Amino acid sequence: MGGVGADELRAAIRNVPDFPKPGIQFKDITPVLGNARLFAGAVELLAAPHEGARIDAVAGIDARGFIFAAAAAQRLHTAFIPIRKKGKLPHTTFEERYQLEYGEATIALHVDALAPGARVLLLDDLLATGGTAAAAAALLRRIGAQMVEVGFLVELGFLNGRQKLAGLPIRSILTY
Ligand code: AMP
Repeated sequence: MGGVGADELRAAIRNVPDFPKPGIQFKDITPVLGNARLFAGAVELLAAPHEGARIDAVAGIDARGFIFAAAAAQRLHTAFIPIRKKGKLPHTTFEERYQLEYGEATIALHVDALAPGARVLLLDDLLATGGTAAAAAALLRRIGAQMVEVGFLVELGFLNGRQKLAGLPIRSILTY
């Protein structure tokens, strides 16, 4: 696992043109997940800077964010919180609606997922227009959580998603 760098991850990510819609170039991370060394390396790059810091939970965004957030939570010996698509969480939720690069969606968080003041690392696989992450950050704010960092494996810099996350500490492992 040692020594996986951003360039190696970039080389493994598959660019799929016109998926799921014409004009969208989809960044397929399954080749990273399918390689034990690269998967562990990606989790390490996302989690390692927080080792030793107080992180009460790692929150992941449905669905690919879960993969990295759950692994990072284990790596940091802390809890995992799922931010799910509307209608999936069984208990009382807060909801946020937002625009996607390709569509519209609503995400939800259990109202009691975290104690107020909890220090959270929010992770997703990819930052595109920033709508998803901004909605997730809004949910975490509503339950009183404090975002230590919003982390992404991939950032599509040309979409300026960071603008929607103004004021939050953002870190991405690789940028296109
Ligand atoms: P956005 O809200 O526009 O930042 O979109 C981010 C969410 O949509 C993430 O959860 C990504 O998994 C997914 N996504 C958006 N654009 C792409 C893309 N070009 N390739 C892969 N996933 C994407």
